[in-house]
Amino acid sequence: MSAQGSMVIVGAGMSGALTAAALRDQGFDGRVVLLGDDAERPYERPPLSKSYLMGTSEREAIFVHPSEWYAEHDVELRLKTRVESLDRGKHEAVLVGGERLGYDALLLATGAEPRRLKLTGADLDGVHYLRRVQDSERLREGFGKSSRVVVVGGGWIGLETAAAARAAGIEVTVLERGPLPLQGVLGDELASIFAKLHRDNGVDLRVNAGLSEILGDGGAVRGVRLSDGSEIAAQLVVVGVGVTPNTSLAQAAGLAVDNGVLVDEHLRTSDPDIVAVGDIANAQHPILHQRIRVEHWANARRQPPVAATSMLGGDATYDRLPYFFSDQYNLGMEYTGFVAPGGYDEVVVRGDVDQLEFVAFWLSDGRVLAGMNVNIWDVNPDIEKLVLAGRKTDRKRLADAEVPLDAL
Ligand code: NAP
Repeated sequence: MSAQGSMVIVGAGMSGALTAAALRDQGFDGRVVLLGDDAERPYERPPLSKSYLMGTSEREAIFVHPSEWYAEHDVELRLKTRVESLDRGKHEAVLVGGERLGYDALLLATGAEPRRLKLTGADLDGVHYLRRVQDSERLREGFGKSSRVVVVGGGWIGLETAAAARAAGIEVTVLERGPLPLQGVLGDELASIFAKLHRDNGVDLRVNAGLSEILGDGGAVRGVRLSDGSEIAAQLVVVGVGVTPNTSLAQAAGLAVDNGVLVDEHLRTSDPDIVAVGDIANAQHPILHQRIRVEHWANARRQPPVAATSMLGGDATYDRLPYFFSDQYNLGMEYTGFVAPGGYDEVVVRGDVDQLEFVAFWLSDGRVLAGMNVNIWDVNPDIEKLVLAGRKTDRKRLADAEVPLDAL
């Protein structure tokens, strides 16, 4: 790769911005163009459903870089700009409007979009999705004018939003279609703890609940009707029913796509001059020995240095374990590792679940696959080491808080 080449980054979210930074850190001094369809410069999403939504963090704190950083690092940031197609033969990105940008290597960091509800009333005023900073600001404004909210989906968006709404003094009903919120990712044992946490904080959590219609009055939400015919009054409906990776550009360009853009352990797509990161990257994981696509902040934060190396023709490998964190009410947690739904045979806990101070471990055949620390800090690196060690662990010692994690 010539130091005078041209790098095009499609997607100006956190992973796009951090890849631009990594290209500069790794000594590339050619052209870097960062294209995004948002009106805002790259920002981080975790605060949008937590502190920023609750009004406890400043707007300026959400951004990845200060506004002057882009000019200072000669990164051409072009907002409100959509890429229409990729001309792989000519090595050009084609923008809406026809402009063509040549590239030596291109990064796809197009992220994901919320799944939309398709039912009567889904377009009423007061129905919110939460993905962009503007969504978070509109929702916070909605909190200020509402007394009751229905949250559809007991996933991360649903539960963090429910906690923020309770903090704003609003009556909250969460509709979860399964038997427990977060059941797929955490399993019954830990999902039950989150269900109790929300009920203890005054949420009307309804499980096995189906939504049949959003009810309106004069174009605005007045409530919802469930599939059993019952109605719940609300002025706001927040929908968090998962996301769809934005793969249409990759697909139209003929790249291999299957539950995201398929990339190898270097994050290269089926075209070696195109690299993909973040929510869209279904990456071969060299330690887990399978493909995984991770829709979490840490993944989008940690992949960029590897993506930049690959764009520059180097050979770095992405092998970090999935990590995510959440804050809900008085519960702060971090999770490290990977467990496919139902892919464990035992959960071992050390600490005090009732006091919400514990570490939970998911095991299969005596080996720790993942761990979650709740209101206990600075143990995450040790949990990661335990998972990476992959050896059989003594359950009694694992459950004994007196035994240091690094002694297991
Ligand atoms: P999510 O965590 O995947 O949860 C989606 C939830 O909606 C699941 O409980 C799912 O139930 C349910 N659901 C799906 N279709 C539904 C339907 N038609 N009606 C009712 N419920 C339905 O997705 P999310 O909460 O929307 O979050 C969006 C993305 O942001 C995710 O990638 C998430 O990881 C990320 N995020 C992460 C954090 C964090 O790491 N702390 C915070 C916020 C957002 P089933 O399980 O039965 O399908």
